[in-house]
Amino acid sequence: MPARILDGVKIASEIRGEVGAQVKAMTAAGIRPGLAVVLVGHNPASEIYVRGKVKSCEELGIYSEQHTPPDTVSTEELLALVNELNERDEIDGILVQLPLPPQVDSKKVLLAVDPAKDVDGFHPMNVGLLSTQRDGLVACTPAGVIEILKRSQIAIAGQEAVVVGRSDIVGKPVAMLLINANATVTVCHSKTRDLPAVCRRADILVAAIGRAGMITRDFVKPGATVIDVGTNRVTDPAEFQRLYAGNAKREETFRTKGSTLVGDVHPEVAEVAGALTPVPGGVGPLTIAMLMSNTVRAAKLRRGSRIPEFSRAR
Ligand code: NDP
Repeated sequence: MPARILDGVKIASEIRGEVGAQVKAMTAAGIRPGLAVVLVGHNPASEIYVRGKVKSCEELGIYSEQHTPPDTVSTEELLALVNELNERDEIDGILVQLPLPPQVDSKKVLLAVDPAKDVDGFHPMNVGLLSTQRDGLVACTPAGVIEILKRSQIAIAGQEAVVVGRSDIVGKPVAMLLINANATVTVCHSKTRDLPAVCRRADILVAAIGRAGMITRDFVKPGATVIDVGTNRVTDPAEFQRLYAGNAKREETFRTKGSTLVGDVHPEVAEVAGALTPVPGGVGPLTIAMLMSNTVRAAKLRRGSRIPEFSRAR
């Protein structure tokens, strides 16, 4: 039986509905959540991401503003901007879109963001809160992975989970969230011995690698849930054939656009897995939904105590 497809678009839309209702109630009570996005220079991919984030704020009634320093900006200038945003009470979330230009000390800039406004969840303070199971702001894509599992009624407690990828922004926080949800977690990376065998232990397999279709059927235990975080743009016709030969819809996209978006999981895994997130339309849509949710959560945590009904963040 083919895998159940976990529809990220539908789940993200559910979350946005909930967040929108909270924004409405908070705004009526005098606190309108606000997000400031800092976009340096003209990176086309970053511009698309930021446009999506701002549009999403508009749809949900979240106040948003964009700051667009030139790509010649210095670390000091960015620090001054971040500090100004830290000081402003109506700004609940600050998002510094990565990557920053090479002359900028990115770590220093990210560290300057007030942890209470760190809606990306990258600040070491929030990473520490997550790892000690305290209330904080959790990175959006990892939080989205957990939302997909929970909202699809996939049990986590007691399950064997394997995360492939150990980056600070995806692999590690996903692993931490799974541990906090009582899974037994193994984290793999490029030095892991016999990766397919380790992955085959998983009831829940999370791929956050950045290699198109690397996870083939021999990595997957029959019936396992597979969450594909990878987003890889494939332009090589031979690589396309390896992944999608015979898939008329994809072939059409590839012909017209010259590329297609592919996850880290090979499409053949749909024949073995019990449940699977597609790419596109799986984890991706959750990332912006969780950013919206984090902005509202930051507003509640920071300003909620001024209004009794919002004094608790959850
Ligand atoms: P990184 O490049 O930072 O990390 C990749 C990880 O994969 C590393 O830990 C690396 O191991 C591991 N890895 C690489 N090759 C192999 C291999 N052959 N075998 C086993 N492990 C391997 O990537 P990110 O974590 O930032 O992103 C991962 C993927 O998720 C990318 O495709 C990215 O585009 C996507 N992504 C999607 C988002 C979304 O919204 N859907 C958001 C963020 C990311 P090592 O540490 O040893 O080098």
